[in-house]
Amino acid sequence: MKICAGVRFKVLDFAAPMLPKDRPRYLMGVGKPDDLVGAVARGIDMFDCVLPTRSGRTGQAFTWSGPINIKNARFGEDEEPLDPDCACPVCAQWSRGYLHHLIRAGEILGAMLMTEHNLCFYQALMAGMREAIGEGRFADFAADFCERYRARAKAGA
Ligand SMILES: [Zn+2]
Repeated sequence: MKICAGVRFKVLDFAAPMLPKDRPRYLMGVGKPDDLVGAVARGIDMFDCVLPTRSGRTGQAFTWSGPINIKNARFGEDEEPLDPDCACPVCAQWSRGYLHHLIRAGEILGAMLMTEHNLCFYQALMAGMREAIGEGRFADFAADFCERYRARAKAGA
């Protein structure tokens, strides 16, 4: 099964089997949430990337249903949290509408809150993958995640 297919993963399909199986595997500069899931499916253990912080500063939030750009006008009056399925402090306290206002006004608090949410989302995603691996259901987790995540991306959110 190919999870979250792409050119990068063709390289990983080639290179990852050559790495020692008893050592952690690090992939620098990756990446989007679906890229992380696809790389974990190919045996990668660790990542670092500016994406959750840089995207947060510019108004992009990563959610379980795909990325959203909080600057879009449709979020101006939205009382929902960034991600109703997120347990982070930002989603517990502030609405999309308030974050929309903060980012559009250039308030530093907007960048801070968006970044906090994105980092929490990435932590929860990695924790979810670790749990799924431990329970022997990673393939189902990955397939479900990618289907849900990419539905919004295709819709142009
Ligand atoms: Zn959140």
